[in-house]
Amino acid sequence: MALDLTKYIATVPDYPEKGIMFRDISPLMGDGAAYHQATDTIVNYARDKQVDMVVGPESRGFIVGCPVAYELGIGFAPARKKGKLPRKTIKADYALEYGTASLYMHEDAIKPGQRVLVTDDILATGGTIEATIKLVEQLGGVVVGCAFLLQLKDLHGLDKLKDYDTLVLMDY
Ligand code: 5GP
Repeated sequence: MALDLTKYIATVPDYPEKGIMFRDISPLMGDGAAYHQATDTIVNYARDKQVDMVVGPESRGFIVGCPVAYELGIGFAPARKKGKLPRKTIKADYALEYGTASLYMHEDAIKPGQRVLVTDDILATGGTIEATIKLVEQLGGVVVGCAFLLQLKDLHGLDKLKDYDTLVLMDY
């Protein structure tokens, strides 16, 4: 029987700031059956897309994407924050609530024409995943799907992903 994955998301009011309802995915990751079910759902979504690589943004995008890549028998490439990647990188900027941030990928992380699944834990405003997609596309990759454990619906992140195929396991 399928588990109700929403039972494995903890809601933490006023974290990291007053007024924010933080959705904590740690209980889901911490439960073998729930983590497995979430991973399998994304793997099944990706299977008929002939995906060559999985890409996820630091750091919870790794937690979602790496087991999917492993199960599909393909590689994973990280999109990381400043100063984390040792070799030549490309960069994409995105907006934060106050100011901007940047994500980086190694310039050889994706080969032109490779079909890429991007993953993250949570889709909020969509800025993080948009920057991740930009990096993949700058490298010549083709984003064939975007998968998230959950979306914060009020922030309308899916509006930024209209041109892409998406999978969201839970709505909040
Ligand atoms: P966005 O760029 O879509 O506004 O924010 C998504 C990014 O912020 C994701 O990488 C996600 O990990 C993080 N994030 C935003 N809100 C939450 C939250 O409530 N819980 C968790 N765990 N991460 C969040």
